[in-house]
Amino acid sequence: MDKFIPVCEPMLAGNELKYVTDAVATGWISSAGKYVTEFEKQFAAYSDCKYGVAVCNGTVALHLALVALGIGEGDEVIVPTFTMIASAFAVCYTGAKPVFVDADPNTWNIDVTKIEEKITPRTKAIMPVHIFGQMCDMDAIQALADKYNLLIVEDAAEAHGATWRGRKAGSCSHVGCFSFFANKNITTGEGGMVVTNDEAIYEQLKYFKNVCFPMNGVRNYLHNDIGFNYRMSNVVAAIGLAQTEKADEYKVMRIHNNKLYRHYLADVPGIRFQTVLPQAECVSWMNTIVLDPALYGHTKDELIAYLRENNVDSRLLFNGMHRQESLFRFGCDCSGEYPICDMLTENGFYLPSASSLTEDTICAICQLIKDFAQQ
Ligand SMILES: *Cc1c(COP(=O)(O)O)cnc(C)c1O
Repeated sequence: MDKFIPVCEPMLAGNELKYVTDAVATGWISSAGKYVTEFEKQFAAYSDCKYGVAVCNGTVALHLALVALGIGEGDEVIVPTFTMIASAFAVCYTGAKPVFVDADPNTWNIDVTKIEEKITPRTKAIMPVHIFGQMCDMDAIQALADKYNLLIVEDAAEAHGATWRGRKAGSCSHVGCFSFFANKNITTGEGGMVVTNDEAIYEQLKYFKNVCFPMNGVRNYLHNDIGFNYRMSNVVAAIGLAQTEKADEYKVMRIHNNKLYRHYLADVPGIRFQTVLPQAECVSWMNTIVLDPALYGHTKDELIAYLRENNVDSRLLFNGMHRQESLFRFGCDCSGEYPICDMLTENGFYLPSASSLTEDTICAICQLIKDFAQQ
């Protein structure tokens, strides 16, 4: 490859500069400003939700959602072990404990058949994480939530615009949380949003996000609860609004790129993609492959090194939550076996996944992977 292909770069091809320039030119650079409200409105609508609350990143979106639902010390929240650390950290910030469930061997999402055995009288919520843009089995999760009277907090950080039986990510629960980090399908560089259809939860989200100023709007500087400053600035929201206008366009590009990878790698032995269930429309945040070294002829680390020599970047997959020293020291139960998650960590990695990738580039990357298989 002549040019270095990064694992992901943002696509800023719409009104980003125009809106940011307007925010700066008019002096509206704090969290007060029309772009914040407009971004909240439009992104919530895009996610089929009534309300959106913009925050400064996806990690605090999760924390804020849990706080707004009243989750705290003494509570337990079911979290997949195969996820980004923010899912578990957000639970810890509230004083509650994350309880881990292994991944499904095919979809790599939380294994819904293994959730029930982890439910205790202290369990307050389930946090399904829509891994790599494919929504979890929300029917099974809803059934468990109904049976045990649990809350659902969707970690939809990787799944903007994804659907499960036609229902959008973020709308299949009490609250949905998004990240707009630079590599996500919709980005503001750093940013996040919590969406909900519940007006009471919406009020709580706004209250805790803004250091618990009195809900009646009176600025008497009396605060009855410990709150947070998780506000997003108008400059950042200006980027978010422009991105939301292009959300479906970028989604189609990501989905198309994933189809191309699957097509060009179809006949390479020992390479497996995430299985996408018929109920799900996966928005393919990251093009992830899992290698069977015996069939492929090399380990994933050897393939990653070969790609790097040829100017193609890649990234390792998550290490499971059960392997995290920080969570163990916090008092989480990290014992037990999580073989699917361990297999993914051991054998999987991401290929370049920017929305803007061309078919020629994807074809060339796949050719490298094929060539190396022969060596
Ligand atoms: C990216 C991501 C987050 C965190 O988002 P930040 O904006 O980086 O804080 C949380 N959960 C998952 C599953 C993610 O992929």
